[in-house]
Amino acid sequence: MPGMHVVYTAGHLAHDVTHETYLGIAVPANEVAERAERIRTTLEADGGFALVAPTEHGLDPILAVHDAGLVRFLESAWTEVRRQEIPRSFLVADTYPVRAMFEGMSAAALGRLREPKAVGGRVGWWGLDSSNPLVPGTYGAALGAVDVALTAADLVLNGGAAAAYGLCRPPGHHAARSMAGGYCFFNNAAIAAHSVASRTGEPVAILDVDVHHGNGTQQIFWRRGDVLYASIHADPAHLYPFFLGYADEVGEGPGKDANFNQPLPAGTGDTVYLEAVDRALDAIAGTSGSVIVVSLGFDTFAQDPIGTLAVTTAAYHEIGRRVAALGRRLVILQEGGYHRPSLGENARAWLRGAEGRPYDPQPAAGFGPTGARTP
Ligand SMILES: [Zn+2]
Repeated sequence: MPGMHVVYTAGHLAHDVTHETYLGIAVPANEVAERAERIRTTLEADGGFALVAPTEHGLDPILAVHDAGLVRFLESAWTEVRRQEIPRSFLVADTYPVRAMFEGMSAAALGRLREPKAVGGRVGWWGLDSSNPLVPGTYGAALGAVDVALTAADLVLNGGAAAAYGLCRPPGHHAARSMAGGYCFFNNAAIAAHSVASRTGEPVAILDVDVHHGNGTQQIFWRRGDVLYASIHADPAHLYPFFLGYADEVGEGPGKDANFNQPLPAGTGDTVYLEAVDRALDAIAGTSGSVIVVSLGFDTFAQDPIGTLAVTTAAYHEIGRRVAALGRRLVILQEGGYHRPSLGENARAWLRGAEGRPYDPQPAAGFGPTGARTP
C-alpha cells in the first residue's frame, strides 16, 4: 500500500549543469541532475512511496513572492546569451552590485540604479554569487520545481495527506525576492509557504534543515509575522552564504521574533544537532497554524563535500520522526545535499521517520554503507 506521495518531474533534467565557478575557476558542478535521480530511484525501490507528477500552477504564485524583473531575467537570459554571441556553455556573473559601490548615496540616488542591458551585467544585477550556473534549460526546470512544491502543498491542503514530499530541483532557499544564487533560482519553499498562508489564512512555519542558511527565505519573510522561519545551519562566519544567518537576525516590524537562526560550529554531530531541532520545534509549537514547510537538505551529512556538519543517516530518520510528532501537516521540499551516494538513503530515512516507519538502512546499489563505491 503506497504511502507518502513523492512529487517528481523529469523536467529538472533540462537544468543539465556540468560546471560551476569556484573562486574564479570552472569546477565540476555539485548541484547536478544525478542528485534528484538518486533520490527518486531509491524511493521507488523502497516500495512504500507513490510517485506523482506535478500540476502546472503558472506564474502567479511565483510573482506573489518574487520581483517580476527576476522572472523576466531568468526567462530571457539564455536567448540574450545567444543573441550577444557569448561563447559559454553556462552563464555566471563576474560583476555584482556590492553594497560598498553605493556607500554614501542617498535613498533617492539608490532608487535610480537600473538593470543594465548586457546579459553579463543583468546576471550580476539579479545574482548573489558565481556558483549558480544558468543553462538553456534552467528557467523551465526552475518553473517545474515550483510546480513540484505547489503540488506537494495541494496534496496536503486539498488531498488530505498528512505529509507530501516535493523532490524539487533546482533547490530554492537561497533565492531572495529579487535575487537568484546558491544553485537556486525561485524559492520553492517560500512560494509554497506563501501559498499555504494565503489559502488557509493561518500562520505557517518553515523549518530549514539544509546545512546552509536559507538567506532567501529569511529575506522574503523578514517583515512578516505570519511566517515563522526557523533555520539550523553551519555558522555563516565560515560557510556560504557568509553574510546572513546569525542568531541576532530575528526579523523586523511585524516579523520581529518570527526569524529564528541557529548557527552551529563545524563538526557538529547528531546529539547537538538534534538539540537544535528540538529548539526549532519548540518555537514552531509556540505558533498557531497546522502546516510546516520543511526545507530539507542533506548537506548536513558527515561526508558532504561542501557541508561542514557531521549528521548521520540514522539521525535523519529521527529528525523526520520528531518533526512529524508535532502533529502538523508537512510539506517537505528538497533543498541541497551533495554526497550523491548517500542522498537516496538519507531522503528515504528522513521520510520513513516522518511516516512512522522503522529505520531500515539499505546501502545504495553499487555503494557500501560508508558511501564508498563497491567493486
Ligand atoms: Zn545547502
